[in-house]
Amino acid sequence: MIPSAMMTGPQKITTPHDMDEAAVVEHMRHLKAEFGKKLVILGHHYQRREIVELADFRGDSLELCRAAANQDDAEIIIFCGVRFMVESARILARPRQRVYHPNARAGCPMADMANAPLVEKAWRDLEQRGLHGSTIPVTYMNSDADLKAFTGRNGGIVCTSSNATKVFEWAFARGERIIFYPDEHLGRNVANSMGIESLIYDPREPLGGLTEDEFRNAKVLLWKGFCHVHTHFTTAHIDEAREKWPDVYVMSHPECTQEVIGASDFAGSTSQMCRKVAEAPAGATFAIGTEINMIHRLAFEHADKNVHTLSRSLCPNMYRVNLYNLYDTVRDLENAPQVILPDDVMRDGKLALDRMLAINL
Ligand code: SF4
Repeated sequence: MIPSAMMTGPQKITTPHDMDEAAVVEHMRHLKAEFGKKLVILGHHYQRREIVELADFRGDSLELCRAAANQDDAEIIIFCGVRFMVESARILARPRQRVYHPNARAGCPMADMANAPLVEKAWRDLEQRGLHGSTIPVTYMNSDADLKAFTGRNGGIVCTSSNATKVFEWAFARGERIIFYPDEHLGRNVANSMGIESLIYDPREPLGGLTEDEFRNAKVLLWKGFCHVHTHFTTAHIDEAREKWPDVYVMSHPECTQEVIGASDFAGSTSQMCRKVAEAPAGATFAIGTEINMIHRLAFEHADKNVHTLSRSLCPNMYRVNLYNLYDTVRDLENAPQVILPDDVMRDGKLALDRMLAINL
């Protein structure tokens, strides 16, 4: 589903390629050399290895958000990731820059669990009780652009998995409570680490399924939403890994459940986990609870270390971007659909993103 906030040009019709992958990579390298600094390709850690190898910048969503904001020389930004990342790059890029997504169907089921009308309904629950003035809305980067815009216009801020604790501190310096959407697990894990109690707000239930007292006294209201790629991991996976590799260092992404985070040695963003592997001595053993493409690449790039997955879990949406639709986009930019957002979504979404980028992280 493409959200109404996101408009694109005519959808290009592609033809099947008879070229093998090596030939496409060669053509891509040739095209990149022709474009030079005018073209920037951003690749998220969860992308396939061949995509990440062609990217000018690889990183987590915060790093790629910064990269999108800092590309003065670029005329064309191609984001290899899912829709919410591409929309954020569109918001942060210069107006003259063109932003493309190789596959507009690469969305995020977790982002789809919250939308502006549903969050506005929750906000009305707060308004009716006079609580909205002391509530800071915080949206995870993994959310639609119009939800970022809602957050921006109501004094709120965006966070990523690498800066969520600092963003929560920012919010509590300005308000008495947070409403956080759309990932209950990241929100709960951050609140737990700060010693703050959190309660689930289920948008399908009146008052989020809470009693009047619970709603009024909650410090952190957690939207009921989750990432299926990360809730796949269990403590049984961790137990198995520890039994199999007694010296293993277990790392999990903060979108995992609190039980998995509690049983891990480290919880952090994709880039933080990549750094841990890169900095470890040869022979170190890791078992990681995150998307499989990143783990495969880490194992390939650090062949002197033992990098394992806790259990195979793939994000089918990240996988929708591939060498062929990237190549189709770059070789025929005039007909490729550009990412365009309404002016008010651009303006208010930028407020929420800029507040995050202004925090000294
Ligand atoms: S890994 Fe999870 S949060 Fe990230 S894009 Fe896939 S479904 Fe969405």
